[in-house]
Amino acid sequence: MTAAGQTAGRPKRFGQRGGLFVAAMLFLAACGPAGVASPSPISESPETPESPSPVPDVESPSPGAPPTQLVPVPTPECSRLEATPPNAEGPYYKVGSPERASLLEAGLPGARLVVTGYVLSTACEPIPGTWLDFWQADANGEYDNAGYRLRGHQFSDDAGLYRLETILPAQYGSRPRHIHVKVQPPGGPILTAQLYFPDDPQAAFDAIFDPRLIVDLTTEGDGYEAVFHFILDGLTS
Ligand code: FE
Repeated sequence: MTAAGQTAGRPKRFGQRGGLFVAAMLFLAACGPAGVASPSPISESPETPESPSPVPDVESPSPGAPPTQLVPVPTPECSRLEATPPNAEGPYYKVGSPERASLLEAGLPGARLVVTGYVLSTACEPIPGTWLDFWQADANGEYDNAGYRLRGHQFSDDAGLYRLETILPAQYGSRPRHIHVKVQPPGGPILTAQLYFPDDPQAAFDAIFDPRLIVDLTTEGDGYEAVFHFILDGLTS
């Protein structure tokens, strides 16, 4: 179009510049496809990194270790869910614990432990908004009965997930390692229980110990990751 307009406006010079014009047109014709073609790979290039992104998005949760993404999807287990059994409350429960998902404090000794899991009905339905109140002994097997060290409550999220950051409790007396917990779904009854750890030699000598309350434990760096799903009975249709 532009070349045609220039030609019509300057007929006398066409002959003088005709060769150059033709050469230019040939050059443009030669470059044109490349010029048109070149943007296409550029415009497509953003799609190239985007298309594999679902793979990194799926894989990134594992190395990132965000709590909720470490928890296995419970669906495969749903066909055989049994209600979490109650367990003794013990003498050291205190009402009024602070709401916090991490019980870690500066200078708190002990191996780091993250406990995650779902709160589900026996029908395998997640129970959001469930109150979970944890309390435990420290790395010396002692409870803070004056304050709220290693005590805290939280609520399960919309997916029924909870996540607790704490330390591995020590054994004390004849008791194996354990974390006390109270679990109450919205409008439901309170389940009082204790979470235990695998291969604890003290368990054999403990009358309260219940193997159904053992967490799945794995090491993570210098610490541990535990998974335990609370299954609550008689809550849903
Ligand atoms: Fe205890």
